[in-house]
Amino acid sequence: MTRTTQDWQAADAAHFLHPFTDFQALARKGSRVIERGDNIWLWDTDGHKILDAMSGLWCVNVGYGQQALVDAAAAQMGKLPFYNAFFQTATPPAIELAELLAEVTPPQFRHVFFSGSGSEGNDTIVRMVRRYWDLLGQPERQVVISRHNAYHGSTMAGASLGGMSGMHAQGGLPIPGIVHIEQPYWWQHGRERGLTRDEFGLVAARWLEEKIEAIGAHRVAAFIGEPIQGAGGVIIPPATYWPEIERICRRHGILLVTDEVITGFGRTGNWWGCETMGVKPDLMTFAKGVTSGYVPLGGVMVGDRVADVLIERGGEFNHGYTYSGHPVACAVALANIRLIREQRLVEHVRDDVGPYLAARYRELLEHPLVGDAETCGLMGALLLVRDKARGLPFAESVEIGMVCRGHCFREGLIMRAVGDRMIVAPPLVITREQIDQMMALIHRCLDLTLADAQRQGWMG
Ligand SMILES: *Cc1c(COP(=O)(O)O)cnc(C)c1O
Repeated sequence: MTRTTQDWQAADAAHFLHPFTDFQALARKGSRVIERGDNIWLWDTDGHKILDAMSGLWCVNVGYGQQALVDAAAAQMGKLPFYNAFFQTATPPAIELAELLAEVTPPQFRHVFFSGSGSEGNDTIVRMVRRYWDLLGQPERQVVISRHNAYHGSTMAGASLGGMSGMHAQGGLPIPGIVHIEQPYWWQHGRERGLTRDEFGLVAARWLEEKIEAIGAHRVAAFIGEPIQGAGGVIIPPATYWPEIERICRRHGILLVTDEVITGFGRTGNWWGCETMGVKPDLMTFAKGVTSGYVPLGGVMVGDRVADVLIERGGEFNHGYTYSGHPVACAVALANIRLIREQRLVEHVRDDVGPYLAARYRELLEHPLVGDAETCGLMGALLLVRDKARGLPFAESVEIGMVCRGHCFREGLIMRAVGDRMIVAPPLVITREQIDQMMALIHRCLDLTLADAQRQGWMG
């Protein structure tokens, strides 16, 4: 029986509680049901062709329909669909993936702890950094410092590490021992103080030092941050920020953790966001791009500083997941990483489409709605403003991002709205010609949004 879109929507509304969704609003509107994908394109159940400028959810880096990943999954499922890694056992794909990850990560990383997702990876981070300090005889070092408007997942620890006020408001978060400093968002926190971006980067990093001093360094276990905040609106910190963060962590002996769930596997034009930012973390969380989203997998890269202590001091680390090192997920990750290497996708982003997207985004600054336009590799953000000359944002009651997103939806472009920021992160396989197609759609949606804003009297 083939179902119509209405059939799908009715069954969806009747039974499926979607993540991060107002259930009633969705039931009224009906979800868009995506049926098929190829390269950077999706098709819904009405046959509409859509340019996916968000790579699914920041994950489908090699694009849809890569047969090598499909074949790897099928072969591994046929041979051994599951075995665990708990009781001194392992499977070949998990071992091989651990080996390959050590190769494609910075040299301080030779060990990996697998999870099923990014959130679980960050739960592992909290458990692991506390275990590390326990083993070193400093059990009072418990506190993890993160940032407002960070996104680190949706489990109890992930949502606590994250700095999303809407998430903290539900369920009594953050859990104890997790505190936040302000984010390095120049437009919001630096511009009005008359600071250049580079000056602001140093100021924002020193908020970490102030927090450490307020808490007492002897109580702080780690600092965690996304090299570029993704879900927070593609907030690209000034170049001065991360090196100063690293200096502060080193000065106080605090572990430095980068959450590379989005920025890993080539997204920023290097294999890892920490390389783009020029820092050497002690731990890195990964997920999403490790399998290009074809199957769920995540984990933590454990640097020598931490691994040496965990291994040499001995004792059992009482932590793990049924799917830590899932053989099918690991087989797909192996195929995915080999494809990224063979097709030189990281170099493609760094030398070709990344700089091209940056140039095309600079042109967008001419648009009357666009107050800021910035990119890093294949992450891009536009800030929609009501008055460019005076740098004035839209009134809070005007949901300009949602208006723009509505136009994108109707025009066949998936671009995400985060407040007044419109963000993209297209698959790494995108070509210059396809970026031109994407930019034509973005221009069209901005023009339609501007026309709405003028009609409604929101501008000026
Ligand atoms: C998506 C994301 C996570 C959470 O990953 P899940 O697989 O959804 O649990 C964590 N950190 C960052 C930076 C993310 O973007």
